[in-house]
Amino acid sequence: MSGSNDSIQMVDLRGQHFRLKPEMDAAMAAVINHGKFINGPEVTDFANALANYLNVPHVVPCGNCTDALQMALMALDLEPGDEVITSSFSFVSAVEVVVLLGLKPVLVDVEPGTYNMDIAQVRAAITPRTRVIIPVHLFGQGAAMHHVMQLAREHHLYVVEDAAQCLGAEYRMETDTQKLGCIGHIGCTSFFPSKNLGCLGDGGACFTTDEVLAEKMRMIGTHGARKKYHNERVGVNSRLDTLQAAVLMAKLPYLNEFNSCRQSVAQVYMDGLKELEGIKLPVMNPRSTHVYNQFTVRVTGGRRDALKAHLAAAAIPSMVYYPEPLHTQPAFLNWFLLGFSLPVSEMLTREVLSLPMHTELTPGALHYIVNSIKKFYHE
Ligand SMILES: *Cc1c(COP(=O)(O)O)cnc(C)c1O
Repeated sequence: MSGSNDSIQMVDLRGQHFRLKPEMDAAMAAVINHGKFINGPEVTDFANALANYLNVPHVVPCGNCTDALQMALMALDLEPGDEVITSSFSFVSAVEVVVLLGLKPVLVDVEPGTYNMDIAQVRAAITPRTRVIIPVHLFGQGAAMHHVMQLAREHHLYVVEDAAQCLGAEYRMETDTQKLGCIGHIGCTSFFPSKNLGCLGDGGACFTTDEVLAEKMRMIGTHGARKKYHNERVGVNSRLDTLQAAVLMAKLPYLNEFNSCRQSVAQVYMDGLKELEGIKLPVMNPRSTHVYNQFTVRVTGGRRDALKAHLAAAAIPSMVYYPEPLHTQPAFLNWFLLGFSLPVSEMLTREVLSLPMHTELTPGALHYIVNSIKKFYHE
């Protein structure tokens, strides 16, 4: 049924692509035939299809999510030294672009259960120089967006969502339910192969309901030029390849199915591991759906690395996302006082373990993984 070998993978792209091969091959052949590799018609078609899926008026495709975050912040016309609040237990992109743009990163801690930004800390971190909050919807579940948006309204802040891991997830706000990434002023996502909607290389996009911001991001992503060879501002070169757009067009109709596969896998893990005292399962935010880019548990009692080794011995891959918080990374040392500590983020880097999570996991493989974890505790 699948194109993979029998071994358990952390992410099985080969298996997924084997199933979708006819559609993907046809989409790529069409691009090779028409030859418009840069900004070909598939790029616009995909942007429109994604806008329709997300129910957001503007999608600006670009090279990757790190670029998307940079283009988003550039479009907000911030001043050097303006402060941007985001969480320390995360992937590096948001902080990296904040520093690259001469802005000041302000890192806050996360909640130990959902791994998402702790709103009380965000509130406490707001100063007169704060301009932007970047909530990262970590592992596929929404940060507390109803609170984030409330804070943003009170303090006149922009909200740029890092939606790299949560494409398709929804969040219940006061009056309606919206797709994550479409609630703040700008949302950014990634089509890196292992994301929920992955292409065959790099890809990304910004979303917004604001036409002016959409136009600015489009211009910034095209060397700051609306008209070719007339550069209105300093921009970047960040495009979604036509070939990748074609592949994404072929895969987008399956995104909901991919996400429900991931949710079924998560349910098996939840049911299978809930009795184990040494494992803390991820906590749900009742307002958000979870689309499980990762299924990440906490292994308490200092036994994370031992469990990881036990699984490896049983040919089960697992990963530590993330092994180091952002506020202690050498790259950002200048930004944080010696001794600055975010205890929950630091604890998580010692306890988290992500289990195999993808659309091709069979009931047999899941049973084997769950049993192997149980054995670790019962032997
Ligand atoms: C993957 C990821 C990114 C970066 O995406 P790229 O497309 O590789 O630039 C940013 N933020 C988060 C939370 C991610 O998981």
